[in-house]
Amino acid sequence: MKIQFIGATHEVTGSCTLLQVNERYFLVDCGMEQGRDVFQNIELPIAANQIEAVFLTHAHIDHSGMLPKLYKDGFQGKIYATDVTCDLCNIMLRDSAHIQESEAKWRARRAERAGAEAPEAVYDMQDALGAISLFRPCNYGDIILVAEGVEIRFTDIGHLLGSACIEIWMREGNTHKKIVFSGDVGNTNQRIIRDPEQVEEADYLVIESTYGNRLHSTDRSNVIPELAEYIQKALDRGGNVVIPSFAVGRTQEMLFAIREIKQKGLVTGHDHFPVYVDSPLAAEATSIFMQCNPVCFDEETLSLIKQGINPIWFDDIRMTLTSEESKLINSNDEPKVIISASGMCEAGRIRHHLKHNLWKENNIILFVGYQAEGSLGRRLINGEKSVTLFGEDISVHAEICTLHGTSGHADRDGLFRWVEGYKTKPELIFVNHGDDDACEDFKTYLCDHGYRAEAPYSGTQYNLATGKMTVYTEGKTIERTRSYKVNSRADMIFGELVKEAERLLELVKTRRGRTNKDNARLTSQIRTLREKWKD
Ligand SMILES: [Zn+2]
Ligand SMILES: [Zn+2]
Repeated sequence: MKIQFIGATHEVTGSCTLLQVNERYFLVDCGMEQGRDVFQNIELPIAANQIEAVFLTHAHIDHSGMLPKLYKDGFQGKIYATDVTCDLCNIMLRDSAHIQESEAKWRARRAERAGAEAPEAVYDMQDALGAISLFRPCNYGDIILVAEGVEIRFTDIGHLLGSACIEIWMREGNTHKKIVFSGDVGNTNQRIIRDPEQVEEADYLVIESTYGNRLHSTDRSNVIPELAEYIQKALDRGGNVVIPSFAVGRTQEMLFAIREIKQKGLVTGHDHFPVYVDSPLAAEATSIFMQCNPVCFDEETLSLIKQGINPIWFDDIRMTLTSEESKLINSNDEPKVIISASGMCEAGRIRHHLKHNLWKENNIILFVGYQAEGSLGRRLINGEKSVTLFGEDISVHAEICTLHGTSGHADRDGLFRWVEGYKTKPELIFVNHGDDDACEDFKTYLCDHGYRAEAPYSGTQYNLATGKMTVYTEGKTIERTRSYKVNSRADMIFGELVKEAERLLELVKTRRGRTNKDNARLTSQIRTLREKWKD
């Protein structure tokens, strides 16, 4: 009976943990690493086809995104998840495969130009469809026998529609132990979804620590009036509100808020202002939200449904699916709200909307989610005056705002409350899924409050029968390389320089037969330029 930590150790993304019970192997989450990678993860110590099953906490790509790769490597077991997580993964893994395929094409073109071998896509659509075929939808609250000596239960953790913490009962001979994986613990009072449910006992607990050393400052009840104010302000001055938003979860939360704003008339003088949802993934996710099992909804949402009100829909929503429709959004001057992905402005259609909207001072760019260090979103919030989009320098004149109180994660007190809610104190708590300092600080906070807690690095293994560490690994930091965005811009500028030099040589070659005086002058000018830039 063993646990080995693979990913999201001292990091927020790439969740993956290996369990071994009765010589069988199980994974909890199989996520993709996103954004800045700080610590090196070990490779899975066993072949993919030796894994019997994956237990998936929720659909976010940093928890589910490597399932198609696992399938590609030979995994043929079952993937257990709540039914809504299965539905969301069906669209998100296909979307992710699209991204992998187009990134591979882009890298292949680059490699070809450099005379190098083209790298393969991490996975493709066939792999995503293969992984999707292995999903087994489960209900919250059911105890499911997965294998001899292994039972699991999904409990609502209030982070994203369908999200769960996973309780796992393990038996090896006469040894019985229970381990709970928190998944991502939700914030209380989020729109649409329910608050995290309390689990009451565990021998071991694996808990996330995204906000393990921070407290959310703003009262979440202010979100709707604050959003209404931003919309009123932009529309009054004839501008747009552009909301970069993650397509699944946050976009639907925004639709819920705008539906209420419209219903209560919180924005005046702009009846039927249009709201564009410009992301095919967001459109699909919205329809999954609308069709999902009502047990996933909080009381407020359920009571709206009972009154015949669709909580995330209103007449003025315009879903744009094709890129032609998307381009038309900015072709008229009608003040509007545009919600588009990606949430951190690193990719996707939002970059087109920023190009068209950043330079006008009557517009508002409204951030509604976490912006990682170095992302375009963070740079705008930090007050960058000019940004490059599609090779064009765009000056920033629009008002850059942040809507507070929209985090999907519990803060330190929320996490601690959930730990304190256990009737029996876990013997040992493993802290993961947090940046280095958040993870360490939350571990220390737990220890200061009388818990035994550890923050293992990738590779570290424990025997769960005894609670003893069996493999210790140190955190291996990754050599900080410059991000590919920076490289690609630098490459672009350098490429331009080389091209210009080649054009100069072409020009020189055409000058045979011109006057000696002119040619001598050009020679002298080139020599001066060369001397000037010698080192
Ligand atoms: Zn998540
Ligand atoms: Zn997460």
